[in-house]
Amino acid sequence: MTKFLGLDLGGTNIKICVLEIIDFECRVIENLSIPTDASKGPEYVVNLLAQTANYYINEKYHDVEAVSVAVPGIFNHATGEILLFPNLPGNWENQPMKAPIAALCNIPVFILNDARAFSLAEAHAGQAKGKSPVACIVLGTGVGGGIVIDGKIHLGSTLGAGEIGHQIVNPEGEMCGCGAQGCLETMASASAISRGAGTNTPEEAFARAMSGDRKAIEAFEEAAKWLGIGIANVMAVLSPEIFIIGGGVAQSGDFFLKLILKEAQERSKLTPIDSIKIVPAALGIYAGSIGAALNGVINAGAKFNLISTT
Ligand SMILES: [Zn+2]
Repeated sequence: MTKFLGLDLGGTNIKICVLEIIDFECRVIENLSIPTDASKGPEYVVNLLAQTANYYINEKYHDVEAVSVAVPGIFNHATGEILLFPNLPGNWENQPMKAPIAALCNIPVFILNDARAFSLAEAHAGQAKGKSPVACIVLGTGVGGGIVIDGKIHLGSTLGAGEIGHQIVNPEGEMCGCGAQGCLETMASASAISRGAGTNTPEEAFARAMSGDRKAIEAFEEAAKWLGIGIANVMAVLSPEIFIIGGGVAQSGDFFLKLILKEAQERSKLTPIDSIKIVPAALGIYAGSIGAALNGVINAGAKFNLISTT
């Protein structure tokens, strides 16, 4: 019997997952969430992560093999320091994350991007179980992405592969937070949809679209067009067996996914139309923490046949 801890750092909450493997069966035994209190600053948040990990590793359990932290931004793979968290307050640049957690917990610590963690969870335990390659797109404030091949996150030679939201789809478009112009993120994020619909939230935009509001419908059609281009590009390069779309907007029923599928099909001339599969994510708000814990399982080389998340 062995356990793996996953922490998913968000602006509002830290989600916690404990996976247990017994006889090659991998099972979620804890899923919970605590407030991040991000306004207290980077050092406070890192200490909270370290203390939380320490509680599970050295107090509650004594057979946790690894801890992985899913983070909302980019980090230095060599040093475990944060480079950029665009949506968390405070100056995170060069903030150590891996070292303080490792110093307190004394077990292997891994860091990964939260959209990659989401992708890993969906590929192993969600809609893409048993499929490969898997491409994931997470529609939120930005557009996150991840590629999973044969059960492993594909990070490529730069360790940055999978940024589906930062492919340039419109060279005349808006400046993106990454410094490029016209990334898919600028054209099709949930924020772009609510901006286009003239609403405060994407959920409100969806409700208006459902009631027949033309401006809201057009905002979804516009985002679907750019997502269709992005998906056709990924299809041409990688040919994923399935695309998973996550984030609140993607859970709003068939309306948006059908628009995206139609756009992707029209633009994928070299692929049989019915080989493009686009489905909504299945694991809900704990996908990131489950994926983080799974990242520890995979990095530790622990074997499992089955995974159950309920
Ligand atoms: Zn970008």
